[in-house]
Amino acid sequence: MNPPVRTAAVIGAGFGGLALAIRLQSAGVQTTLFESRDKPGGRAYVWHDEGFTFDAGPTVITDPSALEELFALSGRKLSDYVELLPVAPFYRLCWEDGAVFDYANDQAAMDRQIAALNPADVEGYQRFLAYSRAVFREGYVKLGAVPFLNFRSMVQAGPQLARLGAWRSVYDAVSGFIRDEHLRQAFSFHSLLVGGSPFATSSIYALIHALEREWGVWFPRGGTGALVQAMVRLFQDLGGQLRLSAPVERIEVEAGRASAVRVGGERIAFDQVASNADVVHTYERLLGHVPRGAREAERLKSKRFSMSLFVIHFGLRRPQPQLVHHTVCFGPRYRELIQDIFQGDAIPDDFSLYLHAPCATDPSLAPPGCSTHYVLAPVPHLGNAPLDWDVEGPRLRDRILAYLERRYMPGLRDDLVTCRIFTPADFRDELGAHVGSAFSLEPVLTQSAWFRPHNRDDAIPNLYIVGAGTHPGAGVPGVVGSAKATAGLMLTEAPQ
Ligand SMILES: Cc1cc2nc3c(=O)[nH]c(=O)nc-3n(C[C@H](O)[C@H](O)[C@H](O)COP(=O)(O)OP(=O)(O)OC[C@H]3O[C@@H](n4cnc5c(N)ncnc54)[C@H](O)[C@@H]3O)c2cc1C
Repeated sequence: MNPPVRTAAVIGAGFGGLALAIRLQSAGVQTTLFESRDKPGGRAYVWHDEGFTFDAGPTVITDPSALEELFALSGRKLSDYVELLPVAPFYRLCWEDGAVFDYANDQAAMDRQIAALNPADVEGYQRFLAYSRAVFREGYVKLGAVPFLNFRSMVQAGPQLARLGAWRSVYDAVSGFIRDEHLRQAFSFHSLLVGGSPFATSSIYALIHALEREWGVWFPRGGTGALVQAMVRLFQDLGGQLRLSAPVERIEVEAGRASAVRVGGERIAFDQVASNADVVHTYERLLGHVPRGAREAERLKSKRFSMSLFVIHFGLRRPQPQLVHHTVCFGPRYRELIQDIFQGDAIPDDFSLYLHAPCATDPSLAPPGCSTHYVLAPVPHLGNAPLDWDVEGPRLRDRILAYLERRYMPGLRDDLVTCRIFTPADFRDELGAHVGSAFSLEPVLTQSAWFRPHNRDDAIPNLYIVGAGTHPGAGVPGVVGSAKATAGLMLTEAPQ
């Protein structure tokens, strides 16, 4: 007689939940993916308005090999499901003093631009790149998908972390090699992409630079939503079940083990349960009825959380040929602004922005002759700044659009066809994000690896965590790596 098929529930269809569900289903575990919203993707939600396609979140797709691996598990090819288009330059960085830096995978072009800002930094950049590559090998290739379940694993990684100076911040590490302030910003801002301040996040995160140089920056044809759809299709082709508009209300625990999930009043039994939902939400809401849940939720709430984001999605009746796909618009302050964002209790008067112009790579995201955009500004989370975003949101929107019109997009407000905002309150209410954080726990060294919530719960042996709140952390490569670490545990630990 065949053994009974193992079953698993994955709660949340963000990139982490989807990647985990694909791994489990590929290995023959009958997997059900529950998503509370009407569409999958989580932070990578997508909506359509007036013929424009808006990706809500991730737009910089790096490490395609981690995505390809998900398809290869069942002998399939990512390229049969979605086409990844290269983005060049990776980013355009602009400062208010008129300096512009096109960050690209072309060494000669990079050297020319670095030399124009400070000739001595050409050599310094080479040393920084070598450092970034060393951290990338140790921190990403070796440890990015390894679950840190016990302190011993942290101690074992200790000597390497010490050799790489992991106690320093990203900005300090970069400044050890590079003198020009523009360039220090250009090579340190990346930690913001995973929710970390360049002045507080471990220099391990300098690896993002090498990761981009190694594998490039990509954008799915049709938008990030097309990549989400590709992963959903793969999961369903493998026989997995996706249930949308299905918010899990609680995880049942019996005899110390996760036994079932409760959805819409229905109790569904599973051998294993994994949560891709926000970690505080998971412990407080889904497990608050058992002592372990309530205790862990309180412990997690005392941690440092990443900043939030204020995002404006807008469609224009005109193309914007002066824009590249990704532009970072630095404001007048860097260190002080970041301090205000991470520790302040109000919206700063100035801002630094990330401006998305996907039609530069794929014009199909807007009606003919039009262009689709979003612009985001990092802002304090609701724990530090409990603001009324119904009031503050429209005000900040107007300030940002006026700024963009003045410096980057002439005539912007006259050309608006559609415009909507996503605020810290939406991160809290739509995504269940604790304090409206955009990236979960802040990726400081004392909240990384073993110090982060573990890929398997410490007390409930068949309960697992996947996504930004566990190891290794936020960002698409991070959460796809977390799925590998979590699936590794789930597949080797036989349910009793
Ligand atoms: C605006 C923005 C831009 C970004 N840009 C980039 C980028 O360019 N590149 C990059 O690599 N990263 C980027 N990131 C970070 C990246 O998007 C996230 O770290 C990553 O997508 C988080 O994935 P996740 O698996 O943790 O799940 P999430 O995306 O957080 O999804 C969790 C899912 O769980 C669902 N859920 C919650 N509670 C329940 C429940 N009770 N029952 C059922 N479902 C539930 C939620 O609805 C959600 O769909 C960006 C993030 C944001 C917000």
